Amino acid sequence: MSLSVPFLDLVSQYQTIQDEMESTATRVLRSGHYVLGDEVATFERSFATYCGVRYCVGLNTGTSAIHTALLAAGIGPGDEVITVPMTFVATVSAILYSGAKPILIDVDPATWTMNVNQLEHAITRKTRAIVPVHLHGQMADMPTIMTIAKKKGLVVIEDAAQAHGSEYDGKRPGQYGDLACYSFYPGKNLGACGEGGAVVTNSEEYATKAKMLRDWGQDRKYHHVLKGFNYRLDALQAALLSVKLRYIEIWTHSRRRIAESYFNRLEQHRERIKLPASPAQIRHVYHVYSVQIARRDRIQKALHDRNIGTAIHYPVPVHLQPAYADLGYKKGDFPVAEELGETFLSLPMFPELTEQQVASVCDALISTCNRD
Ligand SMILES: *Cc1c(COP(=O)(O)O)cnc(C)c1O
Repeated sequence: MSLSVPFLDLVSQYQTIQDEMESTATRVLRSGHYVLGDEVATFERSFATYCGVRYCVGLNTGTSAIHTALLAAGIGPGDEVITVPMTFVATVSAILYSGAKPILIDVDPATWTMNVNQLEHAITRKTRAIVPVHLHGQMADMPTIMTIAKKKGLVVIEDAAQAHGSEYDGKRPGQYGDLACYSFYPGKNLGACGEGGAVVTNSEEYATKAKMLRDWGQDRKYHHVLKGFNYRLDALQAALLSVKLRYIEIWTHSRRRIAESYFNRLEQHRERIKLPASPAQIRHVYHVYSVQIARRDRIQKALHDRNIGTAIHYPVPVHLQPAYADLGYKKGDFPVAEELGETFLSLPMFPELTEQQVASVCDALISTCNRD
């Protein structure tokens, strides 16, 4: 009987740092300071350093990070913002929250991130910003995106919700774009014990605006200079994130080791199982290890029957979701995103996954494909 493997296991990671997490939580609970404050400021400084940028503004979710970044950059009604349909709906929703119109372009069939060849064609007189998504933890082609953005005078806001520590030519999200947005949802590579997010930037002006926007647009208490939101990060999450940030390089290393093991075990089956591209200039952080596979739903069910957990990121691209039908797109508009939706299969991926578990996943996948 083969080993059962969960898709994701947050408890085993928690157990490796349990004492530190619990003493930290106790300290915050006893402090009486629960929202923003020193714990948040401390985390912001360390996360900015980790990202290699000057400023970090802690927020309550990754979605509000994208919304805040757009507003900080002055984007609103009448503006167009270019992004991709193969992402979590939050990317497109946050653009809608700002009042701007999302314009979608397809993703690249090899890297699964924004197809930069379609970018210039999508730019109109109304275009103000580009939101590339670093899908699964692999950075989009930022050098090309920045070149086009500079030429056209556009703001670039990176959706780095899945890409903590990812690199393109040695630079991380936030070192290319005007702003980058992170999520600390529990399952993300750096996950809170609840909700959290952040905007990072090298611009003092954007950082100052983002700080005001998260706290009702105040520049000082009860003096509201912007129409803001309650998007504050709480002290407990910030303190717990500060603990986990000390381990993220180790965890990312484990994710890369697991990805390498998947690659080595599945490489001979690339006819049937398409593996993620790994261009030399990109350092992937494998938030998700997804393959592309024909007859995906049957394979997923067969793996489930053998107690191998899998997931799909994402089965239906945003333009085909009922709630976003009013964007005006139809089936066939983004053939690559649509094909990925039908063929993506995310294999178990978390730092504590053992070599035997990886072997078990691969054996089950290969034998299922051979029998299918
Ligand atoms: C998780 C995620 C978000 C939203 O982050 P939340 O913290 O859940 O609000 C946005 N974009 C992408 C690509 C994500 O994966």
